[in-house]
Amino acid sequence: MANVAVVGSQWGDEGKGKIVDWLSERADVVVRFQGGHNAGHTLVIDGVTYKLSLLPSGVVREGKLSVIGNGVVVDPWALLDEIGRLREQGVKIGPERLRIAENATLILPLHRELDEIRENSNSGTKIGTTKRGIGPAYEDKVGRRALRVMDLMDLDALADKVEKMLAHHNALRRGLGQEPVDGEKLTAQLKEIAPEILPYMDSVWRLLDGERRKGSRILFEGAQGTLLDIDHGTYPYVTSSNTVSAQAATGSGMGPAAIDTVLGITKAYTTRVGEGPFPTELDDEVGQRLGERGREFGVVTGRKRRCGWFDAVLVRQAIKTSGITDVALTKLDVLDGFDEVKICTGYRLDGQVLDYLPGGAALQARVEPVYETLEGWQETTFGARTWGELPAQAIKYVRHIEELIECPVTLLSTSPEREDTILMKDPFED
Ligand code: GDP
Repeated sequence: MANVAVVGSQWGDEGKGKIVDWLSERADVVVRFQGGHNAGHTLVIDGVTYKLSLLPSGVVREGKLSVIGNGVVVDPWALLDEIGRLREQGVKIGPERLRIAENATLILPLHRELDEIRENSNSGTKIGTTKRGIGPAYEDKVGRRALRVMDLMDLDALADKVEKMLAHHNALRRGLGQEPVDGEKLTAQLKEIAPEILPYMDSVWRLLDGERRKGSRILFEGAQGTLLDIDHGTYPYVTSSNTVSAQAATGSGMGPAAIDTVLGITKAYTTRVGEGPFPTELDDEVGQRLGERGREFGVVTGRKRRCGWFDAVLVRQAIKTSGITDVALTKLDVLDGFDEVKICTGYRLDGQVLDYLPGGAALQARVEPVYETLEGWQETTFGARTWGELPAQAIKYVRHIEELIECPVTLLSTSPEREDTILMKDPFED
């Protein structure tokens, strides 16, 4: 039996929600290991749509343990809102089903404000963040002034910790022309929310070690995508955490040997939200059609996603940096009905052809995609559950992608419905 990490291999929104949900039915434990409440997974179960931002996808199923690891930044108010929304949909959530790492960092209202102030100011780089305070919370974690879940336990020491943190934040706020944060008020807010959060708190590394020894199947649920990784992504247009699979170990307190299969969720074309380089972006009616057919609007922000052809160079790079062992290809049905489909196989830069994305936003913005053109297919792949139902050209497209990205496609998704999936290899099998 194997533990599985699921990561996005592009810029996020690859359809991880559906695959994670599909896998979580078979897992015992589902763990989130990075990011915050900006994940925006959509799950469709028996026709009911659930939108999750922070909670692991296992939470909508009974009998599964959902874990928020130390690598996640947790906004306690947003967490309680999300739990409340799911309860209204009939999902039962309590400490027997959800645990949060004691050493996870808290997102506070001042982090969200800082995100907004920066994103709305004209100076600095516009990243296109979701303005949820996630980046500023990670900054405080690395700056060693963050509050963590376990700080909600020691209420006598809380005021002092808040003041230490505010020494930094209020100096920053003054510089940005903002009012300072009232420490007493913030401490009171935290004291008020503490009893609602603490029942979920746990020593997650120990919990997971125990589960592993019991032989539980553990599913690590990544958010965003490899190209948004703080180290390996298209910096500075990236998220503020590591999104590569190695983070599943760091962000949960397990060693790298705990992860056997790394399933890279990969969209059959490319999308990107917000700013940053995007070599295969299409500003024409093809891009528009991909966006409409694929319903490419953000779950969290409602923002329209930029769309383009499949970029095999980027996905191959993501496969290497994230250690992806298997690819789950999603949204193949969105390409139905195109006369021809294109795949980017290299980049032209200053008269040379590159087989990788060069480092640095300036060079990345200048690369020109080199395309291979394949014949499209007019038949539908929508809802296919076997290879036999797929048109020959669609199979050819998938097989060619496998060759170019140097990784097998072991799972194929053909609609938003969970069961509309073609499985070539069980990720939980060794
Ligand atoms: P995530 O952040 O990676 O989970 O991506 P999203 O939640 O934004 O998922 C993308 C959207 O595509 C969701 O609305 C899914 O229901 C939908 N979706 C997932 N897989 C497929 C598929 O194979 N075909 C189609 N047409 N839609 C899909």
